[in-house]
Order: sequence, then C-alpha cells, then structure tokens
Amino acid sequence: MKVTEHIEKAKGKTLFSFEIVPPVKGRNIQELYNNINPLMEFNPPFIDVTTSREETIYVQKEGLLDKKTTRMRPGTVGICASIQHKYNVDTVPHVICGGFTKEETEYMLVDCHYLGIQNVMALRGDAMREQSYFEPAVGGHAYAKGLVEQIQNLNCGKYLHEVIESDDCADFCIGVAGYPEKHLEAPSLKSDLKRLKEKVDAGADYVVTQMFFDNQKYFEFVAAAKEMGINIPIIPGIKPLAVKRHLQLLPQVFRIDLPQDLIDAVDTCENNKAVRQVGIEWAIQQSKELKEAGVPVLHYYSMGKSDNIQAIAEALF
Ligand code: FAD
Repeated sequence: MKVTEHIEKAKGKTLFSFEIVPPVKGRNIQELYNNINPLMEFNPPFIDVTTSREETIYVQKEGLLDKKTTRMRPGTVGICASIQHKYNVDTVPHVICGGFTKEETEYMLVDCHYLGIQNVMALRGDAMREQSYFEPAVGGHAYAKGLVEQIQNLNCGKYLHEVIESDDCADFCIGVAGYPEKHLEAPSLKSDLKRLKEKVDAGADYVVTQMFFDNQKYFEFVAAAKEMGINIPIIPGIKPLAVKRHLQLLPQVFRIDLPQDLIDAVDTCENNKAVRQVGIEWAIQQSKELKEAGVPVLHYYSMGKSDNIQAIAEALF
C-alpha cells in the first residue's frame, strides 16, 4: 500500500514509522532484523531503508595504497524485499541522484516494481566526503526534482529511451525531503521552500522532514509550506540524541540548531548512557506535542540500535 493510503486509512490517527540503514557489506542481515524486531509491536505501516552513495577507500596493493571507490552499504532494494517478505510491511527504498546514472535508477525502479514495492523516497544525496559541493554522476540527476520527474514518467510508462504501453505500469508513491531549518546549501528558507514546491509540482506525494529538536521550527515550516501551496502530508522526522558528540556533530553536518535546554541537559550527563536517556526523554516530549498537533506520522531515524526508538514508541503508541 502507498504511504499516502496508509495516512488516509488512519483517519487522523498518528502512525509510527522508522528508517534503517543497510549494514556494511559483509555483515549479517540478522543484525538488522534484531533491531527491527522490537519495533514491530508498534505496527509501523512502512519502514524506510536508506541508500548510500559510493565512498573513496584505499586498498593495499604491492606495498602501495590504491585509491578505489566502492559502496560500503549496498543492498537497499534487496533489504526492502526481505523486510516486506519477513514482516509483511511496506518498505520505502531511498533512491538518490548522487553516484547513479539515470539508467541505473531506472533499473532500480524496475526491480522495485517487480518486487511489489509501491513507495520510493526521491533524494539528491550529498557530496562525496572529499568534494566541497555536490556533483551529479555523468548522466545522472543534479537535483531531486529530476528524479521525481523520472519516477513520475515511469508511472506513465515513459522510460528513458522509449514509451512502453502496459497494463501493469508502476504507480510509485513518491516521498521527498523537506528542511524546517532550510537545506544547508539553500540561500534562504523561502528559496528552499520554492524548491520543495517544484518537487511537489513534479509529482511528489508526501514530504519527510530533516530532523529538528524544536517543534516550533516544524510548525512554522508546515505553515510556510501551506502558504506556498504545498498541500501534501509533511511527516516530521525525529532523531533521538544519543551521544555527547551529537551536540557538535548534528549542527555541523545538518546545520540545525539545538535548543539550549537540551544542550544544558546533555552537558550535565556524566556518560553517553545518560545522554541516551536525555535524548529519549526529549524525543518523547517532542513526539507527544507533535501527536497532539495531529501530525500524520512520527518517523524516527534509527541509526543502528533501536532500543531508544523502542522506549519512545512505548511511551506513545
Ligand atoms: P534537492 O531537493 O535536490 O535540494 C538540494 C539543494 O539544492 C537545496 O539547497 C535546494 O534548495 C537546492 N535546489 C533544488 N533545486 C535547485 C535548482 N534547480 N537550482 C538551484 N538549487 C536548487 N541522503 C542519502 O545519501 N541517502 C539517503 O537515504 C537519505 N535519506 C534522507 C531522508 C530524509 C528524510 C532527508 C531529509 C534527507 C535524506 N538524505 C539522504 C540527505 C539528502 O540527500 C541531503 O540532505 C541532500 O543534500 C539534499 O537532498 P534533497 O533531496 O533535499 O535535494
């Protein structure tokens, strides 16, 4: 079922969903299941699986270091299929522009369609670590909007090089990213919202936001988006703070602000176990307020371990 259909079916009740990251290649998929298992009792209607672009690595070769690029966490579509099969839940593979040609994206979408995957999240992806700004792959999309257009075309049987008439066309429900505190490269929140509107006009069906720790930012973002004519569901993305280093890391990587009360609470923690508890309590308060405000879904970023998401879900669902 589509994410938007799940939202409609819930008739105003807030749903629970989460996002997982594929394991580093060579690791056992059981580790992933071990993190998903405790979250299934909260009935997520869908689970997102992220996609990572290629990275530069250095391998030893005849005493020298050889520079290679490789994807450390492949397997998004396979993982989605295995989760759908094992848990009978919808999955949302993330499709990214970075590192992929349009052809490769088409093949991925065709695989998704064969596997009965009905939702995809269309994203640009970030620059590679050694790049100062995002560069599309040769023959790839420069912005997520192009990806949304490609997916919508496929929904109408328009492949990259031909139109294929079929009574079994794909019909993907498309999610896109939104940024309550603006995307780090955007010159202003307003111009970023205009870009979001372009993705919606190109065919996006719903938005999932970047993490935020101050609900006011989300409420203002939703109001500004509505004013701009964006009338699709805007799902808040919640990340529980987990380690002290997040105080520096999250603002630096995502250009988001952390509320002073949260910073103060983390500062008083003696170890990361205590920080994890502060993160859980903050996320519970955030989630309660968002739920009371009637958000369609509370979507949690689970970066590996899911014990904190479980504790939050227990308090809310
Ligand atoms: P876009 O919508 O393309 O926007 C990127 C920037 O370009 C913005 O600043 C926008 O304002 C600007 N822009 C857009 N169009 C134009 C234009 N025509 N001209 C000039 N500027 C323009 N990354 C991953 O690698 N894998 C994932 O699985 C993943 N999942 C994510 C899930 C969520 C919910 C979110 C919020 C982010 C996720 N990301 C993921 C991170 C995302 O890829 C980055 O934030 C990326 O830098 C931007 O992606 P986007 O889809 O928002 O890009």
